[in-house]
Amino acid sequence: MRIAVYPGSFDPVTYAHLDIAERASRVFDRVVMAVFDRPKKNLLFTTEERLDLLREAAQGLRGVEVASYSTLTVDFARSVGACALVRGLRTVSDFEAEFQMAQINQSLDATIEVVLLAAGRQYGHISSSVVREMAGLGRDPVEFAPPHVVAALRQKFAQRG
Ligand code: ADP
Repeated sequence: MRIAVYPGSFDPVTYAHLDIAERASRVFDRVVMAVFDRPKKNLLFTTEERLDLLREAAQGLRGVEVASYSTLTVDFARSVGACALVRGLRTVSDFEAEFQMAQINQSLDATIEVVLLAAGRQYGHISSSVVREMAGLGRDPVEFAPPHVVAALRQKFAQRG
């Protein structure tokens, strides 16, 4: 059984994240999309909310599960028996950050391989930050994220006023 962990902030999950997870699920027997509890980022959604949105979004994906974690990513990966971490690449700047992170993770645990998947052709321009920004400016990001995520964004910004 080859298990991969696909970690991220998923604030919120987008169609691009789901594309990466779906493609990873063709390479691995199981893919665990893992919400990092405390990234060094200003988050819009709580961990519970990010997890719920992700759970609903990943429902239809065979072989894909959802979890959250607050430890080192390699430690979480080991705890679920994963042999690999999956991450997505959009731009050269993604590459630099992912390459550095891959080397750090390699030095933390050389038994866990890092697999970088290139953004899907229709998805390279999508990011959670663009989705948040659009929603904050009053435009539903229907092309970028599933309907329940769009609804959650609306609600979140309505609460904030
Ligand atoms: P993080 O804060 O860990 O970067 P994100 O939720 O922003 O979390 O992204 C999780 C992973 O998904 C990262 O590897 C990121 O590069 C990848 N990713 C995000 N958007 C895209 C996209 N449009 N195409 C390919 N990969 C993507």
